Amino acid sequence: SVRVEDVRKSFGTGDGLIAAVDGISLDVPAGRSVALVGASGSGKSTLLHLIGAIERPDAGRVVVDGQDVTGLGRRAAAHYRRTVGFVFQRFHLLPGLSALDNVLAPVLPRKAGFDRDTRARELLAAVGLAGRETALPSQLSGGQQQRVAVARALIGRPRLLLADEPTGSLDSATGEQLMDLVSALAAEHGCTLMVATHDMGVAERCADVVRLRDGKLTGTAIRGRGWAGPARGGLTGPA
Ligand code: ATP
Ligand code: MG
Repeated sequence: SVRVEDVRKSFGTGDGLIAAVDGISLDVPAGRSVALVGASGSGKSTLLHLIGAIERPDAGRVVVDGQDVTGLGRRAAAHYRRTVGFVFQRFHLLPGLSALDNVLAPVLPRKAGFDRDTRARELLAAVGLAGRETALPSQLSGGQQQRVAVARALIGRPRLLLADEPTGSLDSATGEQLMDLVSALAAEHGCTLMVATHDMGVAERCADVVRLRDGKLTGTAIRGRGWAGPARGGLTGPA
């Protein structure tokens, strides 16, 4: 589960101070899928970065499966981040590595071995890329590259998958297929999924939709129950 408690994060100073995330509280039960929607600059990416401990909040807490992940030291934060899968708009594959080696890239070398290699191949097959293990990113389409990135995000068996505009570089049909795949894999792996997106086709594939404006939560929709909000985003209805 992900519990966000009155989290705040500003950038800049003086007149240039921007409250990117301005007091957001949100409860996401384990295994739930949540879309974060809202205009450009509304704080979606910043919120994902705070949840993934890529950024530290100025105030408030993020508690993931009972662990406060906001006050961690460097080593503990790095350890926590390895339990989180990240998918970005630009696929961030390493251009000189094969699809298989990209999937294995987050795995520490000393933990490498047959078991990890097998898992990477299974994940590539699960994203529809069996037979393309040796392909370089430049030999794959955008949708295929993003599938490699999804497989890479799952290699460490994350409890939480954070995706920031995962379909933003794809055409809409490819993006919808990718999102179907991501939500199916997250469900299969029991992963909590949080997706920042401008694409309502993507948001529709999540159980809940949380709307942000100017760093604040302005509403929550739970599938089948319509909008509740503004107030607190407690996503406690049926999945
Ligand atoms: P988009 O839909 O365009 O990706 P977003 O909802 O993800 O937007 P954020 O990237 O979270 O929005 O940005 C929220 C606000 O914080 C914006 O005004 C942005 O300019 C500002 N901001 C975000 N990151 C930084 C940073 N590292 N330094 C300064 N300002 C930042
Ligand atoms: Mg963003």
